Amino acid sequence: MAESSLVYRIPDASWVLELPGEGVRTLLSHAQRRWWSTEAAGQLYSAAPGKDAVRVDAVTKLPARAASRTGLRLDIPAVAKEREAFFREGLHCLGFWHTHPEPTPCPSPDDIALAADHARAGRAAFTGLVFVIVGTAAAPGGIGVWVHDGTTLWRALPQAEAGISPSMALLS
Ligand SMILES: [Zn+2]
Repeated sequence: MAESSLVYRIPDASWVLELPGEGVRTLLSHAQRRWWSTEAAGQLYSAAPGKDAVRVDAVTKLPARAASRTGLRLDIPAVAKEREAFFREGLHCLGFWHTHPEPTPCPSPDDIALAADHARAGRAAFTGLVFVIVGTAAAPGGIGVWVHDGTTLWRALPQAEAGISPSMALLS
């Protein structure tokens, strides 16, 4: 199924996060839609994070490490190894994604702590740590996006779907 790209805006931030249709499709392909589905997690990369817009150019899936239905455990050596390999190809890590077995996902206390730890650790490299949670509902509701700036975890809201910008709608 073709998915539209999504643009997320962070309150008070000068930049937007662009999630192309291919990235939306990849994320939703890991949704925990069955009772036996276990949690999946991966990282998000951008080839050229801009000042105004940061586009997600690659969505990876990390090797599962004792994945369960509820509970994110990251294999930190695998996280670092993947980042180094992508960095050599010119791709910068933006943050993480993982799945939740709920329609509209919401970060758990452990998620918030993990996002804060990684945002502080990568402060020099990041404008903010992008933290995506994939629920079981269709896009955009099923894809929750947050950005941790080292202090606060901000909810980013989907702005518009590509191809139906307000100016185009007025012209048609
Ligand atoms: Zn979680």
